[in-house]
Amino acid sequence: AAKTAGRRTHYFFNDELREQTERQNAIHNRMRNGLKQHEFYLVYQPIVDFSTGKISKCEALLRWQDENGNHISPAEFIPVAERTGLIHELGQFVLEQACIDWTLVHKSGYPIEVSINRSERELNDMEAAKQWLSCIKQHNIPSSSITFEITESLLMSNKQRQLQILHYLRSQGVQLAIDDFGTGYSSMNYLQRYPVDYLKIDRSFLNHAPDDRIQVALLDALLRVARALDIDVIAEGVETKQQWELLQQQQCDFAQGYFISEPLPLKELLEFLRRWQF
Ligand code: C2E
Ligand code: MG
Ligand code: MG
Ligand code: MG
Repeated sequence: AAKTAGRRTHYFFNDELREQTERQNAIHNRMRNGLKQHEFYLVYQPIVDFSTGKISKCEALLRWQDENGNHISPAEFIPVAERTGLIHELGQFVLEQACIDWTLVHKSGYPIEVSINRSERELNDMEAAKQWLSCIKQHNIPSSSITFEITESLLMSNKQRQLQILHYLRSQGVQLAIDDFGTGYSSMNYLQRYPVDYLKIDRSFLNHAPDDRIQVALLDALLRVARALDIDVIAEGVETKQQWELLQQQQCDFAQGYFISEPLPLKELLEFLRRWQF
């Protein structure tokens, strides 16, 4: 009987795995097709520099509206693309489109920077990294106006190849940011080992500030350490005036969030930048 049960469990497990794989394959195929059909596009979220009050950069965020008109969240499709490998094509599209859009942003009179997310899996290939650099160069975008955002788990994983590629990109002038800081097993210790330019603190780090005294104290400590290491801090997910004022008062370097603007399509971004100047 035990044998039968075991076997049944075995089959059941296989069925579930197979279903999951099939579901993933279906999304993968829809994404691959969607890339060809131009169903993917970018939106840009402005980031304010507290020291000047100006928008100094924007984060490019990927959007997918499928053939039926449904919007699918990157939180849903990025992990699938990472697993199936399609993230390489998606990432290439994101960089290329961001370069095209940024040429227009610069031509429109806004000498600002753009920040682009990179998954861990995109960083295991030196050839790809070289391709990114030549793409940036081809579009005449100074590499220093590009920041790549990577999650803190990569820095902590000690994956030599990825870290080597990050070093290489930075040596070529690209800036690096640690994304979602405060969501993993963040240790400030890692910050001194790997040269990064920015630390993006996750919104969960601030979600109860300024009422939560512990969050305020942690923010204060983090800002001090970052300042000592010459790393600029970008607060993500700033939604309220109270958070904004707290960050300003604590001399945080940059802020990003719905309080300033939600992510915008390029046309609306240009309009936003025009209004922000005045
Ligand atoms: P992320 O890089 O941490 O991006 C910030 C996320 O927070 C974005 O979600 C943004 O829309 C959202 N957000 C911004 N301000 C606020 C706010 O004030 N309140 C709240 N509640 N949320 C805010 P989004 O666009 O859904 O992206 C989710 C994640 O998907 C990103 O997190 C990033 O990890 C990933 N992702 C997005 N685009 C790309 C891409 O082109 N490549 C890769 N590899 N990953 C991407
Ligand atoms: Mg990001
Ligand atoms: Mg983040
Ligand atoms: Mg600074």
